[in-house]
Amino acid sequence: MNNLLKKKIIFATGNEGKMKEIRMVLQDMNVDVLSLADAGITTEIIEDGKTFEENAIIKARTIMQETGLLTLADDSGLEIDYLNQEPGIYSARYLGEHTPYRKKNKIIMNRLKGVPDEKRTARFVCAIAAALPNGEIMTTRGTIEGRIGYEERGKNGFGYDPIFYVPEFGCSSAELSPETKNEVSHRGKALRAMKEKLEKDGILNTAKVLIVSDTHRQNGNLYRVIEQVKPVDLLIHCGDIEGDDQSIEVTAGCPIQVVAGNNDFFYGYDNAKTFYLGKYKVYLTHGHHHGVNYSDEKLIAAAQAEDADIVMYGHVHVPRVEQMENLMIINPGSLTYPRQEGRKPSYIIMDIDRHGDAHFTLRFL
Ligand code: IMP
Repeated sequence: MNNLLKKKIIFATGNEGKMKEIRMVLQDMNVDVLSLADAGITTEIIEDGKTFEENAIIKARTIMQETGLLTLADDSGLEIDYLNQEPGIYSARYLGEHTPYRKKNKIIMNRLKGVPDEKRTARFVCAIAAALPNGEIMTTRGTIEGRIGYEERGKNGFGYDPIFYVPEFGCSSAELSPETKNEVSHRGKALRAMKEKLEKDGILNTAKVLIVSDTHRQNGNLYRVIEQVKPVDLLIHCGDIEGDDQSIEVTAGCPIQVVAGNNDFFYGYDNAKTFYLGKYKVYLTHGHHHGVNYSDEKLIAAAQAEDADIVMYGHVHVPRVEQMENLMIINPGSLTYPRQEGRKPSYIIMDIDRHGDAHFTLRFL
C-alpha cells in the first residue's frame, strides 16, 4: 500500500551530472531529490569558505534557510601534493574560470615536468554537507588517490579527469566507465557516507503532517495556519473542503489528501481512504458516513475492519486526540466553524520523529 510520506530534499547544484549521481545513490530511500532548478531557486551563493567542508556548508545552509527543506550540497576539487595541494578549493577557478581544461591540464603537466612518479601524488576530494531544517549541520568527505599523468587520456568525465591517473585501475579517471567512476569516485564515496549518516540518524524518517477539517470554502484561517506551520510534508483534510483542494494544495506547497464530507457530494472525492504514513496505517474519513453525531461505534468498527492504527475524521467540528487501545482517534475540529466550548478554530500537527514515532499536537488559532 502507498506510503504517502515521500520527503522532498534539495541537492544544491545546477549540475545535472551530479543530480544523476545523487538520485542513483538515494534511489532506494523514500525521497524526492530536487535540484536548484527543480525548486525554482536562482539565489547566487558566494563560496568564500577556506575548506571544501566550509563551502559545502555555506551552500547547503543558504538554500535550507530559503526553503526550510533539508538541503545537501557538495564542494570538490583536485589536490596536487607537489603544488602544495593546489588547486584545492580553487579547482574550478584555477588558471581562469573560463580557461579550457585542455589548457589548464597542459599547464599543470608542464609545472610537473621532470617530477618523478612518487612525487606526482594527487587526490580528488569531495565534501558533502547536509543542512537540516532545525539548523543542524552534518558533513562527510570522500577522496580518491591518484597521480598526475604525463599526457591527457580518455574521453569520459570532465575537468581534470584526463590527467588524473588512478593506479588501482591502471588508467586515467577519464578512461573509467561512468558507472565505475561513480562507484570509486570522491563524490560517490562522500554521497554514500552521507546516505549512511542520514539513515543511521533516522533523519529521513521525520515528517510533519497538517491535519484539518470542515473548512467549508472559508479558507482564511487555514491559510494563516499554513503560513505559520510551513513547510509541511502532507496536508490531510477530513472532509467538507467543498472543491477547494487544488488551491489549498498550491498554497500549502505539499500534496493533499481529501475525503468527501456531507457537503462535498458534487466533487467526486472518496468517502474514505486507507494509506500508510510511515509505519502507521491510517483510515481517513468523514464522520457523517458513520453516524458519529450519535455514536462513534461505527467509525471505530470501520477503522478496525481496515486494521488501521489511526483513524482521522471530521464532521462534528469538535477536536479530539484520543488513544483507544490500539487505535488513535484524531479529529482536528474546524478552522472555520468551531463548535467545541470556547469555539477556537483548531487543527492538528502530526510530527513523525527520527525513530518513526508519531506525536499529535492539537493547536488553536
Ligand atoms: P565543484 O565542486 O562543482 O565546485 O567543482 C570543483 C572543480 O573541481 C571542478 O570544476 C573540476 O575542475 C574539479 N573536479 C571536481 N571533481 C572532479 C572530477 O571528478 N573530475 C575532474 N575534475 C573534478
